[in-house]
Parts: sequence; structure tokens; C-alpha cells
Amino acid sequence: MTRPMLTIDLDALAANWRGLDAASAATVETGAVVKADAYGLGLEKVAPVLADAGARSFFVALAEEGAALRRVLGPGPAIHVFSGHMDGDAAALAGSDLIPLLNSAEQAARHFAALPGHPFGVQLDSGMNRLGMEPGEFAALRDRIAEAGPRLLLSHLACADEPDYAMNAAQLQSFAAMTQGLDAPRSLAATGGTLLGAAYHFELCRPGIGLYGGRPYGDAQAVVQVSVPVIQTRTVTAGEAVGYGATWTAPRDSNIATVAVGYADGFTRHLSNAATLWAGARACPLVGRVSMDLLTVDVTGLDRVPDSLDVLGPHQGIDALADAAGTIGYEILTSLGARYARGYIRRNEAGAA
Ligand SMILES: *Cc1c(COP(=O)(O)O)cnc(C)c1O
Repeated sequence: MTRPMLTIDLDALAANWRGLDAASAATVETGAVVKADAYGLGLEKVAPVLADAGARSFFVALAEEGAALRRVLGPGPAIHVFSGHMDGDAAALAGSDLIPLLNSAEQAARHFAALPGHPFGVQLDSGMNRLGMEPGEFAALRDRIAEAGPRLLLSHLACADEPDYAMNAAQLQSFAAMTQGLDAPRSLAATGGTLLGAAYHFELCRPGIGLYGGRPYGDAQAVVQVSVPVIQTRTVTAGEAVGYGATWTAPRDSNIATVAVGYADGFTRHLSNAATLWAGARACPLVGRVSMDLLTVDVTGLDRVPDSLDVLGPHQGIDALADAAGTIGYEILTSLGARYARGYIRRNEAGAA
């Protein structure tokens, strides 16, 4: 086997959903964000496990993603679309029973004209200035929206992973003020907001990254493991260079393993000379540049070079690798790419509930 191996622990995923569900009161619903193919981990495998664990409300970025999710889940669960009702979405929204989160007066007009009576929610801008109706825009539509009965009123926090930032409380206040007196469930918290405490929970929390094992959910179980086969090992004498650009020169006679993963697999070139791979509990530094399909790793001093080295595993999670790459765990996951052999672990079919 020369393909890198990506193993996804679906029991850990279910445990993370239950752990985040337990972070809010029993009266608060916990949904699940599965946009971008469930953060790159495979919508078809991930979504049913979350539904089995108890999730009844799902969130995707695009109507097309919602249609794919409906095929996976079948009728029943609520599927919300963050991008709302875009021109051309009506058939997918209606055909797959999706709930667009209307982001503007223009989207509201489009929705009420194209799909009168079809469920919708509203996304409000409480200060992030990315998606959602502005307070004034919403105020002008409030009566019309209240009359139509929104399924959900939602907003998104810009700094929820930084509990001390004043912007969290400011957005909370703005969201509470905009939604006051409306008879609809509200949702402000993603993973970070869920961990900020009960004031942020309203009627529904909608974690994403924490389900997949990422920061800021510190109690998360690791969901992904990546191990990559060693293709070849060679001795490099002191003073010889390794890899494109000859950016690494052996300071002493070294044993260099060449392994089958590269930037085409999401192992970003920013990790050149800056990452660590693992032989069990032994750290092995990446030396030289990351190539499209290959890395070179200093395995000097190992008694035996294993058949494969770990990129993600018990000694290095997605956030540790992200830190080395100057990015975030979300980007590590969604960059993994199509070339991995994927294995899914599911020890406990029925879920532990
Ligand atoms: C991606 C996203 C989420 C999930 O956020 P996490 O930080 O991954 O928990 C929730 N709400 C909106 C609007 C999003 O775009």
C-alpha cells in the first residue's frame, strides 16, 4: 500500500456530539454543522452517526450540500442552509425540504415570491459583518417575517474561541435585542459559543469543529488519524542536501525516510522544514521541502524504521499540526483531499446513549 491512510473514528465523533450536547441544558437542542463534506471527513459516513447520536437539526453552507445531506438522512431531520435562498436555489430547497436562512431583504423577497409557505429561518448580523440581515434591514421586515413564522433566528459569533473578547458580549446583546419578542427558536452558539456558557445557548447550539475533535473543544476525542507509508530509506552523509531547492543539509550522517504524502494531500508546503512526523512515540522531523506527493523525514536513531509514520495521531492532533503550518484545525481537515485510503471505525453501532 502506498496511499496515505486516513482513519476516521466515528465513535469519537458521536462521543464529541454527546459531550457538547451535555455542555448545555437538557432543554437546549444540539444540532450539527456538516458543511464542506462534514469538514472533509465524509458526509455520508458522518451525518448518520450524528443522527444516531441524537442530532435532529443539521447545517450546511449551500443548497447543493443540503440536497446531498437529505439523500443521506432521508426525511425527518431539519436541514438549514447558511447561504440562504440564492437565485436558482428554489428547486433544491423545495425538492429536498431544506430551510434557507435568509440573509437579506433581497433573499426574503425572493423566498416569499418563489416558495410561499415553505419553511425558512433568518440569519442576523450581530456584528461579524459577514452574513445576515443588519438590524435596520431586519426591523423593516420584522412583521412580515413574524407573520410567516420563521423556524429559526440565527447569528454567528466572530470571536467565540476567545472567551475574554468583549465582542462576544456585544454580539450577545445585539442578537438578544434583535430577536426579543419574536416567537421563534434562536441559535447563536457554534462550538466556541457552546463553551461560553448558558447565556449564549438560547434554544439551539450548532457545533461544528468540536465534533471533529478540534479547538476550542478541549475535551474533544481525536477523530482523525493519518499514517503514511515509508517508500524508501537512505543514508545521507553529512553535508549532503535533501529535496527541492536543497533547503536542508545534513549536519551529520543521517537516515532519511521518504514517505508518500505531500501538498496534494493537504500537507501544506508551509510545513517544509517545520513539521514533525511520529514513529509511535518518537518524534521525527520533516527535513527539506514538502513535494506534491512526498516528504522526507529524518529517522536517524530509530532502531527500526517502521512501515509507516503518523502525521496525525495520539502525539499530534489537528491543532498541533495546524499550529506548525500557521493555520487552524478547520483548514487541516478540509484540505485532506481525495487521495487517502479512508477507513471508518465504528465499534459501537447502536451508539452509547
Ligand atoms: C461553520 C459555522 C458554524 C460551525 O462553527 P464551528 O466553529 O465549526 O463550531 C456555525 N455557524 C455558522 C454560521 C458557520 O458558518
